[in-house]
Amino acid sequence: MTTSAGHGSPDGTGAASASAIASRLALLEAREITKHFPAGRRGAVVHAVDGVSLALPAGRITAIVGESGSGKSTLARLFARLLKPTSGQLLLDGQAAPPGRGGRRRYAQQVQMVLQDPFASLNPVHDVRYHLTRPLKVHGLGPAGNLDESLAALLERVALTPPERFLRKYPHELSGGQRQRVAIARALAARPRVLLADEPVSMLDVSIRLGILNLLAGLRENEGMTILYITHDIASARYLADEIAVMYAGRLVESAPATSVSDRPAHPYTQLLLSAAPDPDRPEPVRLSGRGSVPSLLTPPPGCRFHPRCPHAMEICSQLPPPPAEVAPGHVSACWLHAPERPAGTVAPAERRHDGPTRLADDPSHQQGRPTRPALRHPPFPRPRHGQSKEAGDEPAGH
Ligand code: ADP
Ligand code: MG
Repeated sequence: MTTSAGHGSPDGTGAASASAIASRLALLEAREITKHFPAGRRGAVVHAVDGVSLALPAGRITAIVGESGSGKSTLARLFARLLKPTSGQLLLDGQAAPPGRGGRRRYAQQVQMVLQDPFASLNPVHDVRYHLTRPLKVHGLGPAGNLDESLAALLERVALTPPERFLRKYPHELSGGQRQRVAIARALAARPRVLLADEPVSMLDVSIRLGILNLLAGLRENEGMTILYITHDIASARYLADEIAVMYAGRLVESAPATSVSDRPAHPYTQLLLSAAPDPDRPEPVRLSGRGSVPSLLTPPPGCRFHPRCPHAMEICSQLPPPPAEVAPGHVSACWLHAPERPAGTVAPAERRHDGPTRLADDPSHQQGRPTRPALRHPPFPRPRHGQSKEAGDEPAGH
């Protein structure tokens, strides 16, 4: 297996070898991409995304997981070219993303974004037909060349059926899930090859989230769509994605096939995220470590950005960013515990300090630096039944 994601190397000399393999298969790829936002004070910047390399393999779902403020939306907006990177590159089919207005338009046709809040992204004064007609006309109506047929086909793809029932509805007449389906249909109208879905279910009622996730799974399964699924919820990533990349404070810390991340998380931060995710196998509720929260991105911690919260932190962790290391085939972790070698004169793992008991440190399986979390026998979500995306009927049809 290959990983979909690589990590920026701390010295900026390139990504891990695993991502070099993946990049040959990638439809869309970010290389060492960085976005710093100017922040009021003289010269101050928000380090929203720092040296992230991430390859999206064709026809697969790659999840980016991380807490709020870790840079996920900024990365998605960089992928969508809604933001200009401070540095780094975007490659589509292995070629630099085409420049200029025409290039941008060709790119936008192939790479479409779906936002978190379908209420904000749909115009309340226009009906569904209006929202879908414009992108269809701009990007071409497809082989039929007939607007009504194209509209109906689009609504069927997102399981809003029968289409006539939805075309004349306004956003306020639809449920949250139906609005998100319209937003997805609008993105699909451009006939993209890549969908960037930024927390597409986090504003939705829990009861209808699964329907939207299964719709995305169906697009991957039936149409070979390449999808970037962004979430703060690692359980939903584990349910939906083929690959998971974990982000912390603007950097990628771990990436691997989804089952490897959930069954054998290597990076202490991923272990923390998983320990807080629902797991029916766990006998007692988890305390999400009391060791602070995501650091300020104005002055991110030096070295590994997770070191102030990490129960395994060693001296080197506050000095140098850890290089990405392959802990298993296709499984990359940027942690000094996994680095094959440390620069001379730095502290060895045996001397690692513990500031106090935490769940991670308490767990003997983590003491070797190669945690062996038992496989989840009952994931909180069942695996998607591919090809079954018609779950819209579960939702209210609106008023
Ligand atoms: P996430 O989606 O993971 O919650 P974001 O990408 O939205 O994270 O934000 C990452 C960091 O970048 C945050 O500290 C946020 O405040 C900052 N940020 C995002 N957009 C801007 C902007 N346009 N200007 C300044 N700072 C921004
Ligand atoms: Mg966000």
